[in-house]
Amino acid sequence: MKRPTVILRACPNYDSGRIRRIVTEGLEHLDLRPFGRTLVKPNVVASGDQFPNAYTRPEFIEGVLMALKDRDNDKVEELAIGERCGITMPTRYAFKGAGYYPMVKRVGGVKIHHFDEVPQIEVPLYHPERLRDAMFFPEPVVKADFFVNCPKFKAHPWTTVTFSMKNYIGIQDDRHRLIDHDHKLNEKIADLQYAIQPQFIAIDAITAGEGRMLTPLPFDMGLIIMGDNQVAFDAVCCRIIGLDPLSVDHIRLAHERGFGPVDMDQIDLAGDVSFEQACDKARGFKTGLIRVEDYFKDTNIRAYAGPPPGGHGDDYCWGGCPGAMEEAIEILRLFDPRTDTQMPPIHIVFGNYDGPIDAKPGEKVVFIGDCSRFKGEIAGQQVDIQSTYVDRSHKDPHTATHDDIFAKMIKTTRQMRRSEDVIKIHGCPVSVAEQALALVELGHLKNPYFDPKNMVLFTSSYLSWRSRQAIARLGGTPYQIPGPSARGAARPDQNLPPAGASTPLEAR
Ligand code: SF4
Repeated sequence: MKRPTVILRACPNYDSGRIRRIVTEGLEHLDLRPFGRTLVKPNVVASGDQFPNAYTRPEFIEGVLMALKDRDNDKVEELAIGERCGITMPTRYAFKGAGYYPMVKRVGGVKIHHFDEVPQIEVPLYHPERLRDAMFFPEPVVKADFFVNCPKFKAHPWTTVTFSMKNYIGIQDDRHRLIDHDHKLNEKIADLQYAIQPQFIAIDAITAGEGRMLTPLPFDMGLIIMGDNQVAFDAVCCRIIGLDPLSVDHIRLAHERGFGPVDMDQIDLAGDVSFEQACDKARGFKTGLIRVEDYFKDTNIRAYAGPPPGGHGDDYCWGGCPGAMEEAIEILRLFDPRTDTQMPPIHIVFGNYDGPIDAKPGEKVVFIGDCSRFKGEIAGQQVDIQSTYVDRSHKDPHTATHDDIFAKMIKTTRQMRRSEDVIKIHGCPVSVAEQALALVELGHLKNPYFDPKNMVLFTSSYLSWRSRQAIARLGGTPYQIPGPSARGAARPDQNLPPAGASTPLEAR
C-alpha cells in the first residue's frame, strides 16, 4: 500500500494565485487528478466580521478550486463546494459572510451545495465499535467520487483541535449532527469516517485559529499543509503543535480502526518547509479542552460540572453542553463588551453534580442539559433536580428533528424570564445558540441575533433557507429522509460489511 504523504508548504498570505500554485504542485506530487463528482468541503462553521478566524478563507478555496481545474483532464463531471455551517444558522448566511458567492463566481463553473437543503442519505455502518447502525449524510457527500477536505487549522474546546477528521462534523445537517454530540463526540467523529475518505486534504494554516473554534484568536502560521490520508495528516498537524495525536480520541480511534498511521516513520514528509521549521512556526499555539469550572474562573459565572450518564470512564461531557457554554460566552463578549461587568452572579450546573452550590438568595442557578441532576440545598432551600436524559439507544436518526432558531429564542426567553431562581434548560446537547440566549436574558446583554449589522443578512438568508426547504417538501423530494431502501447509496468500497474487508483502508 502507498505510504501516506504530508506536504508542508510556506505561504505567508492569502494570495489566491500563490495558493493555486502551491496546491497544484501538491496534487502533482501526490499524483492526483480530480474526476467525476468532485466535492470540496471547507470549514465555514461561522463567518463574517465577528468571526474572521473561524473559517477556511475564500482565497484559499479559490486557490484549491483553480488547482483542481488545472489538474482536470476532462474527467470532472461536477466541481462543487459543500458545507453545513454551525447549527441553527442558515449555511447561506455563513457562505455570504465568508465571501464564498463572489469567489465561486470568479472561479466559474462551480456548484454550491448547502448541506441543510439537500436530501439526506442513510449510510449503514458495519464496524463493531459503531455508536449506531446507520448515519445520514448529504447526497453530494455520499455520491462524491473525488472528495477534497479543506479544513481550517484551529483549536477546539471539545476535541482539543479541529483539523481534517473533525471537519466532518459539518457534513451532517442539524438533525443528525446533534445526535451523539455529547460525551461520545469523539466516537461519533470516528464513525463519520466511514461515510467517505478524502483523496486530498489541504488545510488553511496561513492564519490559524488559536484557543477556541468559533471565536479563535489569529495565529500567524504561514503554512499550507496537504496530504492524502486523513489520520496521518491530523497526526502530523498535532505533532507540529507539540501534541501527541493519540491524546486526541477521534484520531486515536480512527488509527486503531485502520484508517491510517500516526507514527512519523510511517508517513512521508515533503515540501519546502521542514518538520522542525513547521514546529517553530507553530510554537506557542494554544489548544482547547479547558473544563468549564476553570474557564469561568474570575468571572461572575460560577460553573459546576458532574459526570454525564453512562459511566464507561466518561467523567466530563467534552462534546456537549459545557463546551457550548464556553463558546456562548465568547460570542457574547464579541457582540457586547459589557458582558462580564454586566453579568450578575449566576451559577451554571452540568451533569450529575453532587457537590455544594454556593448560591445566595436571589441568585439564579441554571441546570443545563437533560442529564443535569442535583439533590441538596441551594440558598437555604431543598432542591431536587431530576435527570431527563434519554439514552442514545432511544434516539432514532430516522425521526430526528431540530428546533428552529426563532422557536428556540421564544422558548429560552420565556424560561429565563420566569421568577424562579432555579431553572433547568432541556436538551442533549443544549446548543451554543440556546446557551448564548440564556446568558443574554440573565445579563440583559445585546442579543447577537438582533445585531443591526447582521440582522438584514441573517433574516434574508433564513427566509431563503426555510422557503427552499418548504418548496422541497411540497415537491416531495429533499427533506424526506430516505428509508432503508436508500442503503444502496452508501459507499460499499469504503464501508464494507465485515465479510468484505477487515479494515477500511484495506477496502480501498
Ligand atoms: S445533556 Fe449535555 S452534558 Fe448531558 S450528556 Fe447531553 S450533551 Fe452532555
